[in-house]
Amino acid sequence: MKGSLTHEQLAAAAAEFGTPLYVYHAEKIGEQYEKIRSAFSIMDTSFFYASKALTNINILRYIKSIGCNVDCSSINEVKLALFAGFEPARILYTSNGISFEEIEEAVAAGVHINIDSLSNLEKFGKKYGHTYPVGIRIRPNIMAGGNLKISTGHDTSKFGIPVDQLTQIENLVSEYNILIRTLHIHTGSDIKDPDIFVKGMEVLFELIPHFPELEVIDLGGGFKVPYMPGEKETDVVLLAQKIKDTFDHHPVAGNHGAGRKFSIWFEPGKFLVSQCGYLLAEVTVVKDTGNMVFAAVNSGLNHLIRPMMYDAYHHIVNVSNPDGQPKIYTITGNVCETDTFASEREISEIREGDILALFNAGAYGFEMASNYNSRFRPAEVLYKENIPHLIRRRDTMQDLLRNQELNS
Ligand SMILES: *Cc1c(COP(=O)(O)O)cnc(C)c1O
Repeated sequence: MKGSLTHEQLAAAAAEFGTPLYVYHAEKIGEQYEKIRSAFSIMDTSFFYASKALTNINILRYIKSIGCNVDCSSINEVKLALFAGFEPARILYTSNGISFEEIEEAVAAGVHINIDSLSNLEKFGKKYGHTYPVGIRIRPNIMAGGNLKISTGHDTSKFGIPVDQLTQIENLVSEYNILIRTLHIHTGSDIKDPDIFVKGMEVLFELIPHFPELEVIDLGGGFKVPYMPGEKETDVVLLAQKIKDTFDHHPVAGNHGAGRKFSIWFEPGKFLVSQCGYLLAEVTVVKDTGNMVFAAVNSGLNHLIRPMMYDAYHHIVNVSNPDGQPKIYTITGNVCETDTFASEREISEIREGDILALFNAGAYGFEMASNYNSRFRPAEVLYKENIPHLIRRRDTMQDLLRNQELNS
């Protein structure tokens, strides 16, 4: 596969930096970005990397270097993006459920903001009136995404202002003369079907005539990547064509003649960084229980929680013995929980001490890691131009004790 690290490169990183270890591949991120950038070059499109997927400052700097912007889910992510060197105009803060103080901080920083509640929209209007352009996150009431846990646009979702509350939105906008520049939706993750994006657009199109100062249609993220061998990612070329057609044929949104002109924004997270990442773990124990062979590794749901939280499939390769005889194993962590990475999976013969690589670990991997069981969070390494760079050291006992006060 173009853009993947080799077994030798992964094994070399494990030998040099120890395990458990997150390893990322810069050029793979560049390859994914180039795919969407070129697919959407047929229209006015900007991309904002959803940084919550992976916020290491070196990753943010790489994202910046390839020309991509950044989308943030908290004010701290905004601060990390500024620290990484993004100009405020390249930072978007798509908030949900936050206090108004964070919105004030974001305004002070000069970044783009999407607001997701009537309550914050009203406070925003009272304080800023027409002086600061803002976006609103709409809940389109459509079901999208790989499963309910990663679906965010349906009619019982907490995210966004329900589209059926348009009248309340309009009342606030006119009462405080709010400058609405962006309409935003983000309906879920793992969306393979381009028609879901089209459906979302159609909901937004209905709203366009109500917002005369609108300049941006933000369609969020959620592009699917392959997790299982043989699985396909979202066909971004087809998606771009469908989105362009939908725009061109719309009487109001149409970017032709009489229509108003809009920029399209996207916020891909997974699509950019999922496949660039690997979690490397060492096999600590092989246990044959008669009806099953377990291989336990020096990691667990404290380092990669997606298999347990979302029933996510992560491909696993034994990089110490890639050509060994395939056998059936259940791969678990070493945490005091049932932290199964893979159930009865065919993997080339595993011996204690072997290094297993869990694929697709770039997005929502390290970012969701914790110190549960008082284990250390893994180190992180970035391969760039075939050279591995340590970009975060492994936790130490000092890290576990750092914020504790001996006060009682
Ligand atoms: C998480 C998130 C994204 C990215 O989703 P992916 O599935 O990783 O592409 C984009 N926009 C918003 C608002 C998000 O919360």
